[in-house]
Amino acid sequence: MTRFVQTGPSLRDPYTADPQLRGWLDRLLGEDGHAAAKQRLADLSAEVIGPLRAAHHDAETHPPALTRFDAWGRRIERVETSAGWQAQRAAAARHAVVALPYLPDARAAWGPGARVVQHALLHLWGPESATFSCPVAMADGAAALLTQTGAQRQWLARLTSTDPAVAVTSGQWMTESQGGSDIARSTTTARPDGDGWRLTGDKWFCSAIDSAMAVALARPEGAGPGSRNLVPYLVPRYAADGVSPADGVQVLRLKDKLGTRAVPTGEVRLDGAEAFPLADPAAPGLATMMTLVVVTRLHNAAAAAGGMRRGLEYALGYAAERTVAGGILADNPLHRATLGGLAVDAAGAFALAMHGFALLGRAEHGDAAAAAELRLAAPLAKLATGRLAVASASEYLECFGGAGYVEDTGIPRLLRDAQVLPIWEGTTNVLSVDVLRALSGGDGAAPLLHRLTAAADAATHRLPGAAEALAGATARLAADAATAAADPRSTRVLAGARELALRLGHALTAALLLEHAAWAAERGDERPALLASLWILRRLGQADVSAELHEHLGQLM
Ligand SMILES: Cc1cc2nc3c(=O)[nH]c(=O)nc-3n(C[C@H](O)[C@H](O)[C@H](O)COP(=O)(O)OP(=O)(O)OC[C@H]3O[C@@H](n4cnc5c(N)ncnc54)[C@H](O)[C@@H]3O)c2cc1C
Repeated sequence: MTRFVQTGPSLRDPYTADPQLRGWLDRLLGEDGHAAAKQRLADLSAEVIGPLRAAHHDAETHPPALTRFDAWGRRIERVETSAGWQAQRAAAARHAVVALPYLPDARAAWGPGARVVQHALLHLWGPESATFSCPVAMADGAAALLTQTGAQRQWLARLTSTDPAVAVTSGQWMTESQGGSDIARSTTTARPDGDGWRLTGDKWFCSAIDSAMAVALARPEGAGPGSRNLVPYLVPRYAADGVSPADGVQVLRLKDKLGTRAVPTGEVRLDGAEAFPLADPAAPGLATMMTLVVVTRLHNAAAAAGGMRRGLEYALGYAAERTVAGGILADNPLHRATLGGLAVDAAGAFALAMHGFALLGRAEHGDAAAAAELRLAAPLAKLATGRLAVASASEYLECFGGAGYVEDTGIPRLLRDAQVLPIWEGTTNVLSVDVLRALSGGDGAAPLLHRLTAAADAATHRLPGAAEALAGATARLAADAATAAADPRSTRVLAGARELALRLGHALTAALLLEHAAWAAERGDERPALLASLWILRRLGQADVSAELHEHLGQLM
């Protein structure tokens, strides 16, 4: 008997096989800037389809374990992680996925664009990182915070080192069991102790608990209630030997999670743990913490976009191998339309995430207009890409039929890992409420509306249908944003916050895709215009574009 054995999906080199990534790098960095990044990107890409893919698999199949006591009852609280996890840790340092925007030579080469190059690295590496992208996000957030405040230079040097023997990552301890979104309910306290401080309280979700340090929120003794009065503190996780837990830091247990299984996520008890304030303990400190949170939210968007692109690659690879209804799945009109929709969504998520990193780089270099736009763009990027990632991941599984539901294909992980993206660093609703805050303060919706209007105007002659759809959406959004800004706490506005935020996010994506399309068209590349039009028809016009998705699938990649 001949037994049929299905060939699994192969993975192409993610850098050379991604014209959208390369096109955006050409535009945002200039061709010389992109050329200067090419070797870095090619080196990482080669590792992603080789040893890092194997390390990723190893880390996923050997989840971390906590040993709380040794044989004699001594408290050791050792978190054992796999060889694959350690390989990812070393790769993250070597490839500078945290360090790049802080390295003097990178800042000299690309200026604010170092954040753009960093996003490209994350896009290539994140999906095959066994979610080491999580500690990377938190380390980058901590590094941005230490850079901004000038505090703890010795920790900053380690967070941004490219030497695997020196580099460390950071945790971020905000959530308590009584409040993740509602951090005003935090009960962790900080009391002065000589020159330092001591923290006491329980933290409920502490990812990458193997990290050398964490940034923890606590309320200094005597500070008032509410979230604004919380202050970020740096907490060393280990004692001087680098192995034993620091005095007063206990890991109570590891979470048994749906996804991100290679990441050790712990519950932590702080019992007089040594800590160093990262903001003035006598003043409200939450605003300082937001420097970190904006960075990790953008990493979340990068993880969403990178995962969507990689899922697409796997689904396309499988479709090229699988036979249905007497033909190759990749030739089937209905399946092609399905893949085309996924390609358009992946392109939209990428544009939004990349825009966030570009704005962050400019804001960090003192560009006030970029900072004003980032205030709204960061929560929009995080929430819109998080929702897209979950919907796409579900579809990717379905693209594999039953095989997509079987663990050792590696495919179910796409869905399990995507589901965390809309939860941590602010759920969709919590970010939508943050969007209302952004709309009603500072420059409000003005920078965003300006971008939408300019993109629609610029596209009027070349893509009149898309331009008209975006202009119409912009007019409606301007009115709705004004209503929301006028009374952000009204029941009606709050109830509609998610809908409004998603519409804003999708319209911003449309504008970004159109901007890129205009640049590409001048160079004779019409593919970005096709992507922009299809995004706008699907997301702003709610049109059925299945026939176009089927017909143009090859150009959407
Ligand atoms: C895998 C994983 C890793 C994590 N790692 C970390 C970590 O390293 N550090 C850390 O600090 N935290 C971490 N978290 C915690 C995460 O940030 C919180 O779970 C998240 O912020 C939500 O908080 P919560 O669990 O208390 O849910 P809740 O805040 O109780 O939310 C419950 C529901 O209420 C809704 N809701 C809450 N507030 C509002 C509002 N104002 N308006 C409308 N709806 C609202 C939410 O959208 C949600 O649907 C992690 C979580 C996961 C799943």
